[in-house]
Amino acid sequence: MSRKILVSGGAGFIGSHIVDRLVQRNDFESLVIVDNFWTGLQSNLAHISDPRVHLVQADVETFSTETRFDEIIHLASPASPPWYMREPIRTINANLMGAMNLINKLTPGGKISFASTSEVYGDPLVSPQPESYRGSVDCTGPRSSYDESKRCTESLLFECRRTQGIDLRIVRLFNVYGPRTRPDDGRAVSNFLSQALTHGELTVYGDGMQSRSWGYVDDIVDALERYFWKDDVSYVGPLNIGNDKEIPVIDIARFITELVPGSRIKICPPIPQDPTNRRPDLTLCRQVLPGWEANVTYQDGIARTLQWFRDQVMSGAQTSAPTPVRLAD
Ligand code: UDP
Repeated sequence: MSRKILVSGGAGFIGSHIVDRLVQRNDFESLVIVDNFWTGLQSNLAHISDPRVHLVQADVETFSTETRFDEIIHLASPASPPWYMREPIRTINANLMGAMNLINKLTPGGKISFASTSEVYGDPLVSPQPESYRGSVDCTGPRSSYDESKRCTESLLFECRRTQGIDLRIVRLFNVYGPRTRPDDGRAVSNFLSQALTHGELTVYGDGMQSRSWGYVDDIVDALERYFWKDDVSYVGPLNIGNDKEIPVIDIARFITELVPGSRIKICPPIPQDPTNRRPDLTLCRQVLPGWEANVTYQDGIARTLQWFRDQVMSGAQTSAPTPVRLAD
């Protein structure tokens, strides 16, 4: 009952859903959420009234406390390309320096869980991607602040495990979407929904045949909850978590134009080094988390997310995302 938990990025899209699951537990004394509200929103936590929860506005890389934590969940990072491309150094700081800072705040024998990404596979040359695939990442490319800081943070945590014996859980997430994504987030599903509900023009970059495996947040957080604390698991990661149905971007855009009358697709120049495909090999995930599947179809998940975006647009939230930093010629 004296357990202390810290979540970095707990006001963010996935972080706030994790907090919702954590407060259902009755085995801890305090839950500290560290968030600087760069991409997280205080409104994502407005419904939390649990007295065990303490929200601290701070950068994860410089956050300071004498308290030591039994469980740390490190989620602080932008995940949307236009956001991390606009502030690459800050992105590297949040992931890597954030992890370095947090490691020192673990109790002996404590556990740190980290949200890595399918971006560690770059533009993959094998499909689906198993965890053993080493990826095809350009370490100086436009996405490198995100891809490489996630990769390096995986290295850091594994080396700390090897040299200091810390307990670990590392997940690689594949294109998660759903309620509480920022309306001005700029990733495909959120951008298309915001655009459909405002000016009506869905910006598809390139021919839209590039594909992703779109995971609805409730499915993904079901897996995270089991892997990070519920199930008795010894595998420390990395573990792919996602929906393994791979769907082209154009199909997502078309579906949203069917849902929102009057909206239409606008073909825009492609983004440099936009990965052509992405699909998780879930063999390991099915062994580690037996019975778990991402069951929500993209049609169902997008319909649910649309309802949430409608409410945001009605309430006057900022909806236009930063433009992608470098468009191809
Ligand atoms: N995308 C698009 N229009 C948008 C936003 C994204 O065509 O307004 C495309 C993007 O080029 C990529 C895919 O959708 O091929 C997924 O992009 P997202 O930013 O959601 O995730 P990531 O590229 O990091 O997988």
